[in-house]
Amino acid sequence: MARIVMKFGGTSVADLNRIHNVARHVKREVDAGHEIAVVVSAMSGKTNELVGWVENMPKVAGSNAPFYDAREYDAVVASGEQVTSGLLAIALQSMGINARSWQGWQLPIKTDNTHGAARILDIDGADIVRRMGEGQVAVVAGFQGLGPDNRLATLGRGGSDTSAVAIAAAVKADRCDIYTDVDGVYTTDPRIEPKARRLKKVAFEEMLEMASLGAKVLQVRSVELAMVHKVRTFVRSSFEDPDAPGMGDLLNPPGTLICDEDEIVEQEVVTGIAYAKDEAQISLRRLADRPGVSAAIFGPLAEAHINVDMIVQNISEDGSKTDMTFTVPSGDVNKALKVLSDNKEKIGYDVAQSESGLVKVSVIGIGMRSHAGVAASAFRALADKGINIKAITTSEIKISILIDGPYAELAVRTLHSAYGLDKS
Ligand code: ADP
Ligand code: ASP
Ligand code: MG
Repeated sequence: MARIVMKFGGTSVADLNRIHNVARHVKREVDAGHEIAVVVSAMSGKTNELVGWVENMPKVAGSNAPFYDAREYDAVVASGEQVTSGLLAIALQSMGINARSWQGWQLPIKTDNTHGAARILDIDGADIVRRMGEGQVAVVAGFQGLGPDNRLATLGRGGSDTSAVAIAAAVKADRCDIYTDVDGVYTTDPRIEPKARRLKKVAFEEMLEMASLGAKVLQVRSVELAMVHKVRTFVRSSFEDPDAPGMGDLLNPPGTLICDEDEIVEQEVVTGIAYAKDEAQISLRRLADRPGVSAAIFGPLAEAHINVDMIVQNISEDGSKTDMTFTVPSGDVNKALKVLSDNKEKIGYDVAQSESGLVKVSVIGIGMRSHAGVAASAFRALADKGINIKAITTSEIKISILIDGPYAELAVRTLHSAYGLDKS
């Protein structure tokens, strides 16, 4: 007997038939004698609709800012998961399974006060464990918790993955299964590159890079939690027949295992390619080349909660003036330009130029640590396709390259085949 947390994403619970299908997956594990807790997302498209309602509230005459209180945003957008948790509990009960739905505030899943992007601080798993012992299946609404202000708080988009891993850690589950609309983690987004291969195992660190560099199959925070708490996490498909052979395999269920690096015997140099759309580049021209300039630029941007990513600074020719280029999400570019112009005198630059609609393509692999020439192959492959590189950043296990938006898919496919990742 094992203790398993099963999480089902938006497309897996998109309508009543799909919810019924999810209930069959749960039933398979319950019938095998396992202790089960389930986490659900909202029906696919629902959270977008709810966010749209919040953002499109007609504005008061004379105001142009989209104003809303983050606590009320949370009250609205968390509702999608309330619906699916109740519906799945009903579907399970109709199959004779003792099931009960739980909202984040009922358990409670305690979070910090960052409404809209809250972090889970604590989950008391004792009650779920006790109920599991009594044969009850907890169906928990993902994406939500209870803030210190005693109000509902949501965990950021894709946050149900994090709810699931956090609950798995809290109840000391043997496994956390993330059921989605693909049957595992692929070498790149299979929707962009049909030749992408499913990976049997991915190391936590690589998955963390893939997720933070754009592979939205898992929320970044969920991978961090899995890594810290050593949760054995599988990414697998809810779209397969729940009773197909092997689906209930305890040690090797079909899908991709996210695990420690040492569990991966044959480590490739490059594991995957990720991409992130909607990046913008800002260049400050003819900056004074003196100590404190970077602090003067990035301090105010950080205070304005603008996430700066790649930073490139030129060495100045004569020691007096230089250029600085960095990227921010496209949605933040106007806000960033305003912060920079408000601080223009303090920073001391000549002009600020910006370009939106760029894409960051990244090559990820733990094997890069011990191999030379990995970056050079990417540059050569992109050059052969006439793709211009705007900025580059590297770390021990990844190379990120900024390019023009329209080349995104071509660049992903080119790099995928350049590193021999295409399925044969
Ligand atoms: P869910 O609603 O189940 O949480 P998501 O849409 O958040 O599902 O994540 C699954 C999607 O992630 C897939 O449909 C796929 O297009 C995308 N994806 C991006 N990169 C990868 C990758 N490397 N491997 C698998 N899926 C990926
Ligand atoms: N429903 C939320 C979202 O769409 C959370 C999730 O699906 O993980 O972002
Ligand atoms: Mg998701």
